[in-house]
Amino acid sequence: MNNLFNIQNLVRENVARLKPYSSARDEFKEFDKDMVFLDANENPFENGVNRYPDPQQRILKQVLAGQKDVSSDQILLGNGSDEVLDLIFRAFCEPKVDNIITLPPTYGMYKVLAATNDIDNREVLLTQNFEPDVPAILQTADERSKLLFLCSPNNPTANCFDVDSVEKLVRQFKGIVVIDEAYIDFVIGRGSWTKKLEQYPNLIVTQTLSKAYGLAGIRLGVCYASAEIISVLNKIKPPYNVNELTQRRALTRIENEDAVQKEVAQIRSEREKLFIELVKIPLVKMVYPSDANFILVKVDDATKRYDQLIEKGIVIRNRTTQPLCENTLRFTVGKPEENKKLIATLLKM
Ligand SMILES: *Cc1c(COP(=O)(O)O)cnc(C)c1O
Repeated sequence: MNNLFNIQNLVRENVARLKPYSSARDEFKEFDKDMVFLDANENPFENGVNRYPDPQQRILKQVLAGQKDVSSDQILLGNGSDEVLDLIFRAFCEPKVDNIITLPPTYGMYKVLAATNDIDNREVLLTQNFEPDVPAILQTADERSKLLFLCSPNNPTANCFDVDSVEKLVRQFKGIVVIDEAYIDFVIGRGSWTKKLEQYPNLIVTQTLSKAYGLAGIRLGVCYASAEIISVLNKIKPPYNVNELTQRRALTRIENEDAVQKEVAQIRSEREKLFIELVKIPLVKMVYPSDANFILVKVDDATKRYDQLIEKGIVIRNRTTQPLCENTLRFTVGKPEENKKLIATLLKM
């Protein structure tokens, strides 16, 4: 089917028809120091941010494109991945008509965005070992299934999905497959699905600067896809959705790849230490392997242990109400002293 894949068949009619807003900076974007800009009703007195930001974030995209080995027109940036995901819904899913498929237990925003956009969310549980149930997913899909969300590494289960299962889904699902790689930088020995963008025109990969890059506060999400998909999303994105301060701060950080990798290496090494300590704790029944910067743990009584940890000033996530996650807790990997405190506290409980 991939040779015949035509993205235009999946785009909502109103989106296909609409003419995007053209901002002052869209219409004239040459930056020459000697030019006089009297087009955008800005305050002319310089303070560092008195001008509108670049609506296409060209410098930032250029650097990212170089690092990820894609071209700039295969990138869309958003106010966090949450904005990127919302744009994907609004471009492809017709309210009350289309549906999406998600695989619980997984990231809660897909469901919220589906509800916000009035899109039916068809849930197909992961298998007992937290892998996509490929036959069940394909059986659940119909001609109105526009998006399939695969979160890999998955939140909260922390595992990467089996490569063959993902590939099978990308090949056989007739809508768009969105692979959420928020935690990809913590994975060892496996690359990003961005490498398969040329091969699969129905693939979208999302990443974020909120986790490994340590910039949750500036809100920057990244979407990689075919130039065709990106141009559809560009039509409907708010013109200045990534502010100037975010663009500058993100640029400084991504240009300093070594510093990021150093922190990621330390977080991974702390993750291994935490794993070794957690399996020795009596109230811990199971520690799930992790490809992310958090660890999912099954305990004797999740709610009781959650409350006790709060009392000791340690805030974690209780995942016990999630399907397949009864009595589980999710621990983010912290600094060495924070992880030690967590272990010491659990040992005393
Ligand atoms: C944290 C997280 C994100 C990040 O969202 P931002 O809006 O970019 O901060 C995306 N997806 C998953 C699965 C996450 O856990």
